[in-house]
Amino acid sequence: MILGFVEHDGRGPSGLSLQALTFGRRLANDMGDGLEAVLIGAEARPMAGGLGAYGASRAHVVEHDGLGEYAPEAWAESMVQLVSATRPQAVVAAGSERGHEVMAYLAARTDLPMAANCTAAQPGDPFLVTRQRWGGSLLEEAHLEGAVKLMTLAAHAVPADPSPEARHVSVTPFTPTLADKDFRVRVTDRMEKTGGKGSLTEARVVVGGGRGVGSAEGFGALEELARLLGGIVGCSRAVTSAGWRPHSDQIGQTGVRIAPDLYIACGISGATQHIVGCKGAKHILVINTDAEAPILARADYAVIGDVRQVVPALVTEIRKEFKR
Ligand SMILES: Cc1cc2nc3c(=O)[nH]c(=O)nc-3n(C[C@H](O)[C@H](O)[C@H](O)COP(=O)(O)OP(=O)(O)OC[C@H]3O[C@@H](n4cnc5c(N)ncnc54)[C@H](O)[C@@H]3O)c2cc1C
Repeated sequence: MILGFVEHDGRGPSGLSLQALTFGRRLANDMGDGLEAVLIGAEARPMAGGLGAYGASRAHVVEHDGLGEYAPEAWAESMVQLVSATRPQAVVAAGSERGHEVMAYLAARTDLPMAANCTAAQPGDPFLVTRQRWGGSLLEEAHLEGAVKLMTLAAHAVPADPSPEARHVSVTPFTPTLADKDFRVRVTDRMEKTGGKGSLTEARVVVGGGRGVGSAEGFGALEELARLLGGIVGCSRAVTSAGWRPHSDQIGQTGVRIAPDLYIACGISGATQHIVGCKGAKHILVINTDAEAPILARADYAVIGDVRQVVPALVTEIRKEFKR
């Protein structure tokens, strides 16, 4: 059996997890095996049935009083015990921050190798994986060893694709034995997010700001543009380094990977480390004073001009359209 680790927000599974389940289903087909899912938290029970559309025949719902909030070691320890009880051939998770963290702990605790950011897998002996290295600028082909193959799927490497044959999902509760030490790291508080609702990784429109925005206050116009377009604000590392935005907004190699329909890059030069985070965008609109900025090479559309004039002008025009 292939086990897909499914992250959720209490209302539904994450898009990246559905991509990982799609990858897991194809792997299961290639191995002549079935696909099962694991979700953490009793509140996940109602969403288990929907995973049948992605080919899962069983959903293991991990239930424990302490598991309501994210606690990486406790989640990983639950996975260790579930893997020991169900003995899957492979475990597949999303290439998200949590997916990587939980799988890394699982690998360490079971002493199994883990392949992060895979884009393809070919079962057999040897078991081959292709995976992204160096922020996606290099594809590596590797042999993955170990009794249970542990993999994360690179974000947006495989689209979430429902199965042609939806399955009935049996829900199996699983109660792990957890100790206080498993909760040393856990979510204890939440802060309201600025820059739009939802996640950057899954947003359909992202308005990114770089050093050219000029200040933290300069992001006000970008937030308004994002709000009008139903999008989210992101930024470059120059911006997080300057303390204008939190690191959670950073797009790039050491930030978030995005794959929106539209990325509006404002005052961003287009360093390689930024591009690896936004190259999944379907369309890129660049706003920059420098017609020679490297990001222009990636642009579908460009406005050569000052972001402090162009963005407010865009906001005004979009508002006019909305009033019609
Ligand atoms: C190991 C490592 C990891 C890194 N990870 C990341 C990462 O994850 N994400 C990331 O973004 N970077 C990352 N970086 C940093 C990266 O190399 C760049 O330094 C950074 O992306 C530059 O940010 P920027 O484009 O905002 O700033 P700059 O390179 O300074 O570019 C500013 C741009 O704004 C334009 N501009 C200036 N004023 C205006 C104006 N008024 N209107 C319009 N345009 C204007 C300029 O023409 C220029 O193109 C990393 C670097 C390293 C070494």
